[in-house]
Amino acid sequence: MATGYGLRQRMIRNRGDYTHFLKELEQRQWWDEEQLKGYQDAALRSIVEFAAREVPYYRDLFSKQKIRATDIRTAADLVELPFLDKATVQEQGERLRPDRLKLNALGQTTGGTTGRPVPYWVTPSAIQFNYATFETRCRRWASVKFGDRLVSINGKPIVPMSQVGPPYWRHNLAFNQLYISAYHLSDANLPAIVDRMAKFGPRMIVAYVSAIHRIARFMLDTKREQEVRPQSILVSSETLFDWQRADIERAFGCKVFNGYSLGEPVCFISECSEGGMHVSAEYGVVEYIESDGGHEIVATGLINRAMPLLRYRTGDRGTPGDGTRCSCGRGLATVGPIAGRVDEMVVTPEGSTVGPASLSLAFQSVQNLRESQIVQDIPDRITLYLAVASNYIPANEAFLLKELRKRLGNTISIDLNYVDAVPRTVSGKQRLVVSKLKGRK
Ligand SMILES: [Zn+2]
Repeated sequence: MATGYGLRQRMIRNRGDYTHFLKELEQRQWWDEEQLKGYQDAALRSIVEFAAREVPYYRDLFSKQKIRATDIRTAADLVELPFLDKATVQEQGERLRPDRLKLNALGQTTGGTTGRPVPYWVTPSAIQFNYATFETRCRRWASVKFGDRLVSINGKPIVPMSQVGPPYWRHNLAFNQLYISAYHLSDANLPAIVDRMAKFGPRMIVAYVSAIHRIARFMLDTKREQEVRPQSILVSSETLFDWQRADIERAFGCKVFNGYSLGEPVCFISECSEGGMHVSAEYGVVEYIESDGGHEIVATGLINRAMPLLRYRTGDRGTPGDGTRCSCGRGLATVGPIAGRVDEMVVTPEGSTVGPASLSLAFQSVQNLRESQIVQDIPDRITLYLAVASNYIPANEAFLLKELRKRLGNTISIDLNYVDAVPRTVSGKQRLVVSKLKGRK
């Protein structure tokens, strides 16, 4: 079954404009800021004009708010338009699609971290553009390419949850890929999983942060580091903390390349070999708006006419780069740290908010800890879910509590809950902080 899926993907990839996109994306990454801005603004005018003319939701919005498509000439003019949030996309659905044109489009849904999926449509051309961007601005930057031996660890349900005993993987012959289930990474299963990875000998690993970090910690704890030695590891979908990056790079003896994108094709951010997180200007316009004492990433997609999304609120925290040019020499703008979802915050009884970037530091030096999650459902209490190794001792717990108190103060109650594995989202991701406080976005 895994092999059939691979062949279908290869067919979609090889049709049409893929090769053309590859060549252009490769060249444009070396353009200077001005050239890229000119290209991006032209693409922006084109998609705004298209949305205002062909998409019912935007036709009505532009007419009601007396906005003319020609008012939006550059990215700086986007402030004329209201934001679009996920709830509106869920409600409006079909009204965000062009109604008078026969566009070839494929329906998809995102996992939706809140559990409620967001439906969206994409053109085959947007799919090809996305693949081409991934190849040129992700794989090539990491010195790997499509077709290289790949271990992939993500939330695809490839092995039944109830399965006890190996294999916790599927081998995809057409793509030279080994898929490993992110749902089966327990101490009991990991020896067999690391054996299988070592035998397969991947050139690259593509994984969720939590999944590859779980394996890395196991390899370090059991003195098995560098039994698997890929060229590069590509991660995305979850916040990558510096200490997690350090663990993964030590366990596998190679560089980790971080990336950020959504299912909805609105933006593409990827890391170069010099550590710069670059925004692909042709893919989408990225803005950073003030939100809850920090910044939220808002993106306008430029490549998909099946469902244009203008000023789409991603719900993810990100900060603009410092404006200096990356030492790799590319003209593509960079972003600062991307740190989790806007709603991933603990609020203390004193009213201060503490985000995952600082909370994660409380967990990084705790011995024998496997997985952790903080859930807050009332203002003066948090519940910790902890999955621990068999040699976890009371001193480890005391150390963790002391570290948490440094960040959250002494008045908040902390309940401890020991579990076999912390809950994952429907798409298999892990969140360090889950806030269920009402009135928060
Ligand atoms: Zn760079």
